[in-house]
Amino acid sequence: MNDSHVLVMEKGSGEAYFREALALLPISILMLDERGRILMVNPQTARLFGYECDQLIGKPVGLLVPALRADTDVPLRADLFALPESHERTPLRELSARRNNGTEFQVEISLNAFRFDDGSVTLAIIVDRTERYELERNRRDLAHLTRVSTVGQLTASLAHELNQPLTAILSNVQAAQRFLTADPIDLDEVREILNDIVQADYRASEVIRRIRAVVKKGDLEVVSLDLAGIIRDVVLLVRGDAIVRGTRVTLDVEDDLPPVRGDKVQLQQVMLNLLLNAFDAMNDMPPADRVVSVTLMRESSNTICIAIRDRGHGLTVDKLDKIFKPFFTSKPQGLGLGLSISRTIIDMHHGRLWAENNIDRGATFFVTLPVGNATEQDESR
Ligand code: ADP
Repeated sequence: MNDSHVLVMEKGSGEAYFREALALLPISILMLDERGRILMVNPQTARLFGYECDQLIGKPVGLLVPALRADTDVPLRADLFALPESHERTPLRELSARRNNGTEFQVEISLNAFRFDDGSVTLAIIVDRTERYELERNRRDLAHLTRVSTVGQLTASLAHELNQPLTAILSNVQAAQRFLTADPIDLDEVREILNDIVQADYRASEVIRRIRAVVKKGDLEVVSLDLAGIIRDVVLLVRGDAIVRGTRVTLDVEDDLPPVRGDKVQLQQVMLNLLLNAFDAMNDMPPADRVVSVTLMRESSNTICIAIRDRGHGLTVDKLDKIFKPFFTSKPQGLGLGLSISRTIIDMHHGRLWAENNIDRGATFFVTLPVGNATEQDESR
């Protein structure tokens, strides 16, 4: 037992002061007995859960936080509250709580054990996390929405890309039907046709896989990533759009780059935004000049840099920073969210996203990301 984590106090003496102090604190606090029953609540807790203080005394804590449901016939065990064996204070845990009216909300709870001469009590500190969860959910929904809307812009070219293998499949099947009416049937020819059908089918499902990978909705998944692979996938996703707009995309990837840690879908979203913005910036340029160069290189021993360089109209000095603000757009159909969301994503990955004008023409958007190990913070997000 690590005594530095256990507060020992003499029962009786300071108890009244202690209760008064707890009642005054601007945070929600509960005191539980060994069986998980509520010995004391401060008014803040009662208000948070929609009860009067008296209504809660003697009730099991599971009434408020179902995950802390204790079997009231047996003494409260440390593992009941998932307390690590050697400590009697848990760090903050995120759990679902229930109000008197049955509605649920998210709270963070820390449990602290107090030992008296003849027993122990647990002090639970509860922090309402409703707002933070709402904010986080809104941010995720918004990111997803802009991703879907960005991919929506590619619909025409993606439909075209899908149409090609589907047309190939149809004409191959028609050819096979013709071969099957011949006598004798040329099996080699039929085998080859079937092979072509399989290849065309793979091509179609690859297009669908790339769309699904980008519009996927989900929580942040921090894993070790091959950035080059992510960028290649996005370049393939926009290939059809690039052809329709008469734009060339070049990709230059330094060999043997180390992995980065991050969320694949989110990094794809950033790349997609930057590439489509670069295409847009060159709409008015002569076709021969419409080139986007994507470079992936090591910037230092612990950072990788992605540069997306266009030959468009560039950015006026006042725009270099403004473009990262939400709802700033110069496009008639623009949402003005792509760059601000991209910057949030890169910040969350402990990287940097900024823009610079090229010396000759157009702008370059730079993204730097740390190599390898992400902090634990990332993993818990
Ligand atoms: P949207 O594309 O919906 O306008 P973004 O946040 O992605 O939203 O971009 C904001 C603005 O930044 C664009 O409207 C455009 O004016 C400017 N911008 C973005 N990328 C470039 C670029 N490569 N060259 C010039 N201007 C750009």
